[in-house]
Amino acid sequence: MNLDNIGWTFDNTYSKLPSDLLTKQHPIPVKSPKLIILNESLSKDLDLDFTKINDQNLSQLFSGNILPSGSNPIAQAYAGHQFGHFTMLGDGRAVLMGEHLSKKKERFDIQFKGSGKTPYSRSGDGRAALGPMLREYIISESMHALGVPTTRSLAVVKTGENVIRETHLPGAVLTRIAASHIRVGTFQYIAATQKQQNLKILFDYVINRHYPNIKNSKNQALDLLKTVMNKQIDLVIDWMRIGFIHGVMNTDNVSICGETIDYGPCAFMDTYNPETVFSSIDQQGRYSFSNQPKIIKWNLARFAECIITLIDDNKDRGIEIATEAINSFEKIYEEKWLNMMRDKLGLFGEDINDQILIMELLTWMHKNKADYTNTFCFLMNEKFSDNKIYNDENFLIWKEKWQDRLKLNNNSQEKYLKLMHSVNPIIIPRNHKVEEALAAANDDNLEVMNKLLTVLEKPYEKQNDITDFQSPPPLSNKNYQTFCGT
Ligand code: AMP
Ligand code: MG
Repeated sequence: MNLDNIGWTFDNTYSKLPSDLLTKQHPIPVKSPKLIILNESLSKDLDLDFTKINDQNLSQLFSGNILPSGSNPIAQAYAGHQFGHFTMLGDGRAVLMGEHLSKKKERFDIQFKGSGKTPYSRSGDGRAALGPMLREYIISESMHALGVPTTRSLAVVKTGENVIRETHLPGAVLTRIAASHIRVGTFQYIAATQKQQNLKILFDYVINRHYPNIKNSKNQALDLLKTVMNKQIDLVIDWMRIGFIHGVMNTDNVSICGETIDYGPCAFMDTYNPETVFSSIDQQGRYSFSNQPKIIKWNLARFAECIITLIDDNKDRGIEIATEAINSFEKIYEEKWLNMMRDKLGLFGEDINDQILIMELLTWMHKNKADYTNTFCFLMNEKFSDNKIYNDENFLIWKEKWQDRLKLNNNSQEKYLKLMHSVNPIIIPRNHKVEEALAAANDDNLEVMNKLLTVLEKPYEKQNDITDFQSPPPLSNKNYQTFCGT
């Protein structure tokens, strides 16, 4: 089979880093792989052409059974605070096949997830089930369409083998594309080994690969901390804008380059409630919707701890400088959040009462169990099935205040609606629709998923016949729970 005319341009830099950071590891072959989905539009973005390869060979390729020449598979080591507890981890069910360069010389990690045991598997089987891999495919691609930085999904194959969870489930491998898989936890791993030399190597690698503009800084480590903090703030603001709940914001799931990574128990909020948690294992609500900024700050503090010695030779001085940087989190976050909410309401400029106006709306939504996405659709005059709730007297009072504030915009309705349409999705991957697609896919019917994926491609645009995708879940679905999918 010729897998070499696809356009692969491998340049595997991570595999050359110190051996503490990785282990050479081939994907463990699977019995009878079958391609379920291949992302054609992403293939094009990567300058890869799979059109001349038949399905059988694609299945071999995307299961990791046969590797293209130039690849050099490794499992990466990392650590992480999982629900606050520090653990040494690593790719326990993934291997990085290699780094591919697009024609524009953009670098992408090509990783197989669910590819079998590695030295970091601990007690796990190294495998993944079809449902969670397709779920990651749907949600990560939807996040991309929503304009949120994210890892992408190139393909999913069924392995032809079962994985044992609560029951036997069909196994699968997802091909994940990322700007890199370097995590806060990667730095924590190196910090825990206390090899200063390796820390500097990883640090220089990150600056070279992701933030070359920092190379000329006076204090590179401090600037890296501030840059990663800003990236993560922007990311969480995006999540808050669209009602996304990551669900497992452990430090190993925080990417240094600011992409959303590790779609496990994530889900979108329907009814507005800041305390929303979907994950069955998040009993304390540590990763609830409104805790996301607090948690990312906590995670960034763990990152800062790893690079203190690079910030200043004098440890106390290093701590002082890092603390000052981390303490600026709230001010930056709050300002950006306020501006994001102003955009959602079509407000130009700043008015002293903006925050109150926004909080009043959120409080009303919370009290009245209004749908987060649809409330902003209503304000944009978008049609959807059930909008009786917006006849509520308190809502109408609020709406008048909002309309008064819109007058301060000093520009046309067309302009503010355009702004609102650019930030308020009409379509999100609603939990019950995702479940519906996964259930059908489990029964070998891919039509439902493909239709959902098509609708999710244009979340900000008016589309025909989408009311079904806009409706909140039926009442019977109110206690929706997600699982880690391991
Ligand atoms: P996650 O909760 O997906 O972020 O995973 C946390 C850690 O558990 C990572 O080191 C994973 O590689 C590892 N892990 C998750 N599922 C499995 C599995 N089925 N087999 C081996 N390791 C796993
Ligand atoms: Mg993870």
